[in-house]
Amino acid sequence: MFLMPLGDVINQNEVEGQSEERPIFLEGYLAADFAALLKVLYPSSSALVNGLILSKTELVGVLKLATVWGMAEIRSYAIEKLDFECDVGCAERIALAQTHKISSWFKDSIVSIVSGKTELSYEEFQELDSATALRILWAKDQVSPLKEYRQDDKTKYIECEDSALKCNTCRLVPFKDTKCSKCNRKLDKLHLKRVTLRPGVNALSVEALDVFCPLCGRSPFNELPWCAGWIGRHQADYFILQSSRSSAVVEEVFKDELADFRLADV
Ligand SMILES: [Zn+2]
Ligand SMILES: [Zn+2]
Repeated sequence: MFLMPLGDVINQNEVEGQSEERPIFLEGYLAADFAALLKVLYPSSSALVNGLILSKTELVGVLKLATVWGMAEIRSYAIEKLDFECDVGCAERIALAQTHKISSWFKDSIVSIVSGKTELSYEEFQELDSATALRILWAKDQVSPLKEYRQDDKTKYIECEDSALKCNTCRLVPFKDTKCSKCNRKLDKLHLKRVTLRPGVNALSVEALDVFCPLCGRSPFNELPWCAGWIGRHQADYFILQSSRSSAVVEEVFKDELADFRLADV
């Protein structure tokens, strides 16, 4: 229709898209996806008053068409709505990110698995394609704290980055860019006296009492440390020891996909 010159058409009804009898066919697209896109492009008066409500399936349809047809604003809208208003599991997020080239979803979800913040069930792993699942497991093995942290023979302490200790409750990093309460110097590294595998926690952990300032050799806390996590300010008596390299390893292992997806994000 778009390629051929129409010339002098006597009967307008013979032109595609001019009548119900001669519709324009968009091969490979679902009518439901197109209807959902129209809801976003031309919201009804009630949607304008009460806000536009789209189901998860409709939003995925909008995302698909907006990506294929280069509608950047509509694409961002669909991604944001799916992000904040729909229940999208980690494995589903990775699969959607691969299909629709969403670099932030792809990287964040994989880092979350690799760092141990999110654990996928066997069934969820099977939702991923095998090459992706394999590379996720390989990256996870690379950042195992067992590989990264060794006891220093001289000091007898295990040294870690300040960003390696995560709050046991909210898994945020409470010590990034903080100061030692005793010597008042900035903590880049921490010394750990003892690291244990706690029952019920599938990760290495360290008691707050076993954390020391590498500069003055004393406990960097005056009391049990406080974490300003998403559940509100709370004290933490122990921390999960995680690799600070998860993000860098995921960037390296998935560099080709991420570069490709980032082109679609512009
Ligand atoms: Zn916390
Ligand atoms: Zn100190």
